[in-house]
Amino acid sequence: MKRVYADYNATTPCSESHFHQVCKALKDVYGNPSSVHHFGREAKNLLEDSRSSLASFLGVSPKEIFFTSGATEANNLVLQGVCDYQRYKQKKTRMNMLLSPIEHSSILKVAQLLEDRGLVETRYVKVDKHGFIDVEHLVSQIDEHTILATMIYVNNEIGVINPVQKLAQAIKSKNPKVHVHIDAVQAFGKVDMSWVQQSGVDSAAMSAHKLGAFKGIGCLYKRQGTHILPSIWGGGQEKGLRSGTENMPGILSFGIKMQELISKPSWVESLTPIRDTFVAQLKSIKGVHIHGDPQTCLPTTVNFHVEGLSGDLLMLTFDTAGIAVSSGSACASGGGAPSPVLKALGYSDHDASNSIRVSFGYDSKLEDVEQIVKVLSELRARYP
Ligand code: PMP
Repeated sequence: MKRVYADYNATTPCSESHFHQVCKALKDVYGNPSSVHHFGREAKNLLEDSRSSLASFLGVSPKEIFFTSGATEANNLVLQGVCDYQRYKQKKTRMNMLLSPIEHSSILKVAQLLEDRGLVETRYVKVDKHGFIDVEHLVSQIDEHTILATMIYVNNEIGVINPVQKLAQAIKSKNPKVHVHIDAVQAFGKVDMSWVQQSGVDSAAMSAHKLGAFKGIGCLYKRQGTHILPSIWGGGQEKGLRSGTENMPGILSFGIKMQELISKPSWVESLTPIRDTFVAQLKSIKGVHIHGDPQTCLPTTVNFHVEGLSGDLLMLTFDTAGIAVSSGSACASGGGAPSPVLKALGYSDHDASNSIRVSFGYDSKLEDVEQIVKVLSELRARYP
């Protein structure tokens, strides 16, 4: 069976050549980067090379890059760490935090936890039917007790690109003390982020496995001078912000991948004809409803539901035909709950529970789209 992988927003394949490059770089380098002897220094040099690659890709200082186990950890670190700093160092007792309802679960659940513990009030900012954050509502929610605002740059379920640079500016004009965080996982390496250092953004979370690098490694951009208390304590690695012996294979993989992507800044544009063909063909199938406005989304992502066909049936049919897609967010899948993102866009519980996400990446081809459409058309013909 010829398999089609169309779940790049969940994760991406790692090429054999990338795997060999990492192994080659690591060969004989087994020291602990914190050790002062030759072996440790060798490892430390490789670690810092990777940090520099990431920093130059983003146009920031290497001092502003901190490795984590992934973006989930980076998002947790920022929300908890900003809250802890304000509470324990600034002795603030009244705090609120702003977020959109279309954030990833690694933001939504931490915010909920902080509120449940009575540490912070969470304020949800309205989004329109395409997933755009309502800037006026955002600004109106800010007051002198607002410590943090967090926004997803490219949404993982529908692909909408929010103008986070402008939103950050609007937040800072109302209250410059608000820490602005962006979840940049689905944007990093795909859309330009060289504006970050000149913007009001204080931190950003990124992940390597969405770009063909290893899983279990991510990083946090933290503007110099911003305050975040650590969540993991120990040997003081990553300038004390994230203790624990560094994940060298992951860090090298991330650095090597970013070096490779520096020379391919706009690779994602090649997905536009694939996405457009897919959308046009989907629209010709009876009962297909595409979520959001594809023209305002990154061409990586198409999310839809099909009238009269359950998400389970769609998933099963695609899987049986060798096609890998996802229902809602892969990180939240399996729960069966309606997608909070689609609900925030105004879709019913039923439609939000039966959605399918198709996501494209560097190996996607037009033939993949044809295969997906063929399987869906055949299913429609069976259940007219
Ligand atoms: N944020 C977004 C927008 C994501 O898509 C993901 C991954 N699904 C994450 C955060 C979490 O990233 P990681 O897998 O590195 O923990």
